[in-house]
Amino acid sequence: MSAFDFDLFVIGAGSGGVRAGRMAAAMGVKVAVAEERYLGGTCVNVGCVPKKLYVYASEFAQAFAEAPGYGLQATEVEFDWPRLRDNKKAEISRLNGIYRNLLVNSGCTLIEGRARLLDAHRVQVGEQIYSAERILLAPGGWPNIPDLPGKEWITSSNEVFDLEVFPKRVLVVGGGYIAVEFAGIFAGLGAQTQLVYRGDLFLRGFDQEVREFAAQEVAKKGVKLAFNQDVKAIQRLSSGALQVDMADGQSQEVDLVFYATGRRPKTDNLGLEAAGVKTNAQGAIEVNENFQTSVDSIYAIGDVINRVQLTPVALAEGMALVRALYAQGSGQVDYELIPTAVFCQPNIATVGLTEEQARATYPRLQVFRSEFRAMKHTLTGSQERTLMKLLVDAESDRVVGAHMVGADAGEIIQGIAVAMKAGATKAHFDATIGIHPTAAEEFVTLR
Ligand code: NDP
Repeated sequence: MSAFDFDLFVIGAGSGGVRAGRMAAAMGVKVAVAEERYLGGTCVNVGCVPKKLYVYASEFAQAFAEAPGYGLQATEVEFDWPRLRDNKKAEISRLNGIYRNLLVNSGCTLIEGRARLLDAHRVQVGEQIYSAERILLAPGGWPNIPDLPGKEWITSSNEVFDLEVFPKRVLVVGGGYIAVEFAGIFAGLGAQTQLVYRGDLFLRGFDQEVREFAAQEVAKKGVKLAFNQDVKAIQRLSSGALQVDMADGQSQEVDLVFYATGRRPKTDNLGLEAAGVKTNAQGAIEVNENFQTSVDSIYAIGDVINRVQLTPVALAEGMALVRALYAQGSGQVDYELIPTAVFCQPNIATVGLTEEQARATYPRLQVFRSEFRAMKHTLTGSQERTLMKLLVDAESDRVVGAHMVGADAGEIIQGIAVAMKAGATKAHFDATIGIHPTAAEEFVTLR
């Protein structure tokens, strides 16, 4: 008989917490999962899932514009935002229910409310105190909004999915995944959209050529790009519009100011100090390679440890931890070659090193690239272009980076990531027969 109420108490029912909780419960571990907000966390509620649905919506809009070249002419296309938003809401509610069933059916005790650490083995939720042999912190992240006059008028990714009215004029601030994806969504659905980024070129950290190419393509889709620019202040006008004062002294009126300026670990009022859990300078919970915090019985995974803020990484971390704690697994996650995609239009997807990183690592680097207009657009009249790049270490012939800007890049790069994980060489790519006619076949015909 255990001295504790639970073997494992998970704080946060997002991607990582749910996966860890239900996997442990399926192994016979007595698990509680506490959640204060919504089941499925950021990804399901205000992230990947609703974002992708809105990306699909914006792509439909593009398809209508491109259809006449194929002989299909829609007489009138109307965009009904409330219908899209409410259909999205219904789908997310369905997913919340699935997450609830997954947890309960696996044997987890679901506790609704805000959980706070009291010490190394105790958690408080409301008036109730629970004890656990081990505690897993998976509370996720939260939008980071810089302090500026008028910040109360800013919309973040927490609110943007459920806007009452679809804006006519939008200012997007930031140059990362969320900013670039939402600029595409707004522009695709007909809003006059400007993206403001403080640096020279958005998507810092991506391959330089990919960034430049993506900037051209995003601009072609009607997003006005303003780099080396920042917002100084925002005020609400009597008309209801927002006046945005820029750092360069100019002002403009918009209906929505959307900030996507990073996400910070969500650790406020988590009781970290009471329990002695240490955080780093960025506010992320510090963990060792086995996800153990500075307190032996407390672990942390996902966005709150701020290693790689991606759902599949949180899932991998949760599974590795549970295997280590309850099934003699290694407990470590391999962070090499994580593929990722930005769902702008067209998509960007990447795995491995950027050309800049590869040049610094491999003295004999070969760069294979192809840039073309996809076959589909021979009849649409669209000027969209596709870029593909393969980086090869000539010494070993190993493919060390693959990048694509183009339709379905995320779908294509996933397979390339498997090949690279298996150690694929350029000779393997060359020996692979293409699927014709596809864009993907370019990856096996690059010479
Ligand atoms: P990112 O970290 O990707 O980008 C943040 C952006 O905001 C950067 O361009 C940064 O500029 C800028 N920024 C930060 N602080 C300020 C400031 N004070 N003023 C002006 N600009 C600022 O964050 P996101 O919010 O876009 O996304 C959060 C995370 O969520 C991502 O890192 C990603 O891991 C994940 N995500 C993944 C998606 C996917 O897989 N498709 C989709 C959406 C999110 P600078 O570059 O100069 O630092």
